[in-house]
Amino acid sequence: MSSMEGKVAVVTGAASGIGKEIAFELARAGAAVAIADLNHDGAQAVAAQIEQAGGRALGLAMDVTDEAAVNAGIEAVVQRFGGLDVLVSNAGIQIVNPIEQFAYADWKKMLAIHLDGAFLTTKAALLHMYRDDGSGNSRGGVVIYMGSVHSHQASPLKSAYVTAKHGLLGLARTLAKEGGRRGVRSHVVCPGFVRTPLVDRQIPEQARELGISEDEVIGKVMLGNTVDGVFTTVEDVARTVRFLAEFPSAALTGQSIVVSHGWHMQ
Ligand code: NAD
Repeated sequence: MSSMEGKVAVVTGAASGIGKEIAFELARAGAAVAIADLNHDGAQAVAAQIEQAGGRALGLAMDVTDEAAVNAGIEAVVQRFGGLDVLVSNAGIQIVNPIEQFAYADWKKMLAIHLDGAFLTTKAALLHMYRDDGSGNSRGGVVIYMGSVHSHQASPLKSAYVTAKHGLLGLARTLAKEGGRRGVRSHVVCPGFVRTPLVDRQIPEQARELGISEDEVIGKVMLGNTVDGVFTTVEDVARTVRFLAEFPSAALTGQSIVVSHGWHMQ
């Protein structure tokens, strides 16, 4: 039997990049996986790929900043698969600008997607994770937030992103304490730079803002602090999420796990 057979996972922002690979990895581990994303067609395409490979999946349209949409989406997952065991709060965007030029609307949008989205999906998921499983105990579960090396360090131009990613540490640690007695664990996974659409868009933007070439953005800004000059991959991050999702006890909870080729060491 696969390690996550019978488990149900929701991954937000899973129509692309890191979230998409996490959805595939959890499905390979045996979980039924809901792919929740603003991009409904993309979410359905990922779900279809999982089902073609013999897994169980559901593609959902969800804006993680919309409380009603989040609640309805989580409810649809529970209706379809009978419960919820794993939430991976991964949806995210990037907006880079120096603070004095950072539009307030962009700041609010960043915090809404990264922090409000994490809060709203967590709140909706806990309703089911805390529910009595019939034996007098909670069903339990695990909530994994997609942080970043920027949960621990700052970089110029990324005020909103760094603030939001640091904030996720606080949410995860609070949930670890509140959820401990009810079988809910919580972590933040903190990748270094991963070549996804989110990062590809930043390369020309950062080159322009920092006045350096695109090669220098890659070599110095993105990989300069790594031990081997290598990008972290979506597979590296997905494997780490799976390990944390599968871990059987609260010996491991409230942690931040950095996956970054040494870009940040804690
Ligand atoms: P990506 O752009 O490839 O994918 C992000 C997904 O999130 C997209 O499918 C998008 O439609 C979805 N999304 C955006 N706003 C949403 C919303 N309001 N509601 C629902 N879905 C929404 O990006 P990625 O690189 O895979 O990033 C995923 C996560 O990983 C983000 O939280 C990001 O901050 C984090 N991260 C990325 C890197 C990296 O180097 N790529 C490094 C560290 C952390």
